[in-house]
Amino acid sequence: MLCLGSALTFGIAGCDSNKMPGQPGSGKLKTVATTGMIADLVLAIGGDHIAMTQLIGAGVDPHLYKPIRDDIVQVLGSDLVFYNGLLLEGRMAELFARASTADRRVLALSDAIPAEKHMSEPGTDATDPHIWMDVSMWSIATHSIEQVLSTALPDHVSEFQERGESLRKRLDALDRQGLAALSSVPIHQRVLITSHDAFQYFGRRYGIEVQGIQGMSTASEAGLQRIPELLDLIIARSVKAVFRESSVAGKLIEALVEGAASRGYQLKVGEELFSDALGPRGSGADSYIGMMEHNFREISTALGGEWQN
Ligand SMILES: [Zn+2]
Repeated sequence: MLCLGSALTFGIAGCDSNKMPGQPGSGKLKTVATTGMIADLVLAIGGDHIAMTQLIGAGVDPHLYKPIRDDIVQVLGSDLVFYNGLLLEGRMAELFARASTADRRVLALSDAIPAEKHMSEPGTDATDPHIWMDVSMWSIATHSIEQVLSTALPDHVSEFQERGESLRKRLDALDRQGLAALSSVPIHQRVLITSHDAFQYFGRRYGIEVQGIQGMSTASEAGLQRIPELLDLIIARSVKAVFRESSVAGKLIEALVEGAASRGYQLKVGEELFSDALGPRGSGADSYIGMMEHNFREISTALGGEWQN
């Protein structure tokens, strides 16, 4: 089963396996997206004019994801491909280069974000790929989705524009809710400690210092040496909680909690955060908006702030 488009928030059925999407007669654009965060946006704008195949499912780490044979078939049989770029899907770069032809648009949403908004991965020259963690930036990317769909199906331009605008309104409201939630955390306790560095854009937008334990990559084993330094920070700033991430192993978080306990400091583990993938269906974090609401709520409340829905 390859058709995993979420779009639950938007109430659109984007997956229709009985028809042959993209084939003459169906009238639907056969569309592929890598992550759920991307599929959700594309479905919200494309609605029933597209048939969505999402390649990387809930809880799966895109940094390490290697395309399987079916993914290659889906991509090479599609009309449009949307991916994040900035090497988030590092092992798929070759496939996307191959798939980009005169007849098939292959679009990296990160290309829609002005370069001056990009951040570097700590200690490297590489650009941080986690752009969706700043809702105002993800909202900018909706314009290029709208444009690409409008070029592909010019008869439906006004529909795509309307949906794009209504989506941006919802994202703007979400962004404001996030700003309010994080600003309710006492200022000296605004430190977000989590498994990997997925939250840099989040931290910059919503005003919280971010410490990733194992760096940008989810594969790194280098985190253990940071534990003593992080414990000093936690105790000095009275940080109440640290967080696991759904698509990353949580061993280092446990090491922090144990380390804190041995120094007589009780550190909580907050609810799991969703960074690089949506939550499973029915979890409430199974759409982009749901995922970010979950993160705003859990981070702000565990650190001593409030969340108002
Ligand atoms: Zn990541």
